[in-house]
Amino acid sequence: MAELSPTSSRESGSSDASLARRGCPVHELKDRLRLVGLRPTRQRISLGWLLFAKGDRHITAEMLFEEAMRARVPVSLATVYNTLHQFTEAGLLRQLAVDGSKSYFDTNVTEHHHFFVEGDEQLIDVPVDIAVGALPVPPVGMEIARVDVIVRLRKAA
Ligand SMILES: [Zn+2]
Repeated sequence: MAELSPTSSRESGSSDASLARRGCPVHELKDRLRLVGLRPTRQRISLGWLLFAKGDRHITAEMLFEEAMRARVPVSLATVYNTLHQFTEAGLLRQLAVDGSKSYFDTNVTEHHHFFVEGDEQLIDVPVDIAVGALPVPPVGMEIARVDVIVRLRKAA
């Protein structure tokens, strides 16, 4: 758990206790979990730390499970799945179904589209807005929640 020590507050050079507290990533994570109605359990904090401390990323349950093992976070793959889905329902993550067998979770929940590098199984954010053509009219009583575009890439011949 040594990795959970706040480094950002030290960098700020502030001696003010409340400021240092506000700059603590674990404290911020706890607040973030509470804000969306999730109790900040030890497992949620550990997994949340692995997920959110490295900037925007795309990760599968298996990838996060492996990271948790390496960081000696005692969780099962089932717990990782559950936590990812709880985070997604709470709006902390965005789930992307790339193909039938694999779900990626995006820590960037703002609207954006993706490249998917086939073979490398890698998702990359599309840095520009994509003009999505004429969308179909949804059935009565429904509205379009969002449009996810995945542009599949392969090595140019
Ligand atoms: Zn993304």
